[in-house]
Amino acid sequence: MDTQIISLSNQKGGVGKTTTCANLGIGLAREGKRVLLVDCDPQASLTLSLGWRKPETLPVTLATLMGRVLQEQPVHAEEAILHHAEGVDLIPGSIALSGVEASLDTRQNVLKRVLDDCRKDYSHVLLDCMPSLGMTTINALAAADATLIPVQAQYLSAKGLEQLLQTVQKVRRQINPRLKIEGILLTMTDSRTNYGQQIDNLIRGAYGSKIKVFDQTIPRSVRAAEISAVGRSIFQHDPKGKVAEAYKSLTREVMANAERQLKRVAERGR
Ligand code: ADP
Ligand code: MG
Repeated sequence: MDTQIISLSNQKGGVGKTTTCANLGIGLAREGKRVLLVDCDPQASLTLSLGWRKPETLPVTLATLMGRVLQEQPVHAEEAILHHAEGVDLIPGSIALSGVEASLDTRQNVLKRVLDDCRKDYSHVLLDCMPSLGMTTINALAAADATLIPVQAQYLSAKGLEQLLQTVQKVRRQINPRLKIEGILLTMTDSRTNYGQQIDNLIRGAYGSKIKVFDQTIPRSVRAAEISAVGRSIFQHDPKGKVAEAYKSLTREVMANAERQLKRVAERGR
């Protein structure tokens, strides 16, 4: 099976990476895809928000698997994989990842080797990155086919986005030439206000000609903020709400992107 690996990256915290990872992942599973989520953040927010409340007590986490690669031992990713009730699998994160980051030194392909052990079982792998551009995030970009960049519409830091785009360029040049930008996703938007609309226009104006900016944006809603506490997706927590609608449509946009990509490759091959 051809696996698409997408990292959710932005070195700014609180922009919706983890929420998007969980809900895009479960959205894809609801469309019949085989989805693996990987928690690459020592804060383990993804693991927590999917309902595993004590990540530090899990016997095998991403840190264990990356440690095995560093020690040249066999990986056995299946030992770490947890199954969520809504049809996605998870390699959990834990605080131990910060120790692993320190020992990564300059090694860029450690996470890739972990994923090589299990990617064959999945059509989609989503990597939830931590809010930094350190070596763990570099490892995620090195392993990914594409990166999806959530940007909180409210607190746009154009400078932060520039820095991230430069890092993507550098990873492309030095490690992973096939890395694409899946798109910029505007999160926590408020299109009812003038200000919200202005920010939307600003980002599309500044980046839209060079980089895909998803048509679909994710509206701000308390219902979305609640889901990390209940361990479920927005599709179960508030199925008729605007955020469930938005993540469903984002899921379709990501699937359509992939199909367009395949078509382009096929046409080139002819
Ligand atoms: P990141 O992973 O980039 O740090 P999160 O996904 O954890 O971002 O989101 C940051 C905070 O914003 C969390 O408390 C989350 O519950 C909340 N949040 C995420 N998406 C929305 C939304 N659409 N509306 C309101 N709050 C949201
Ligand atoms: Mg997060």
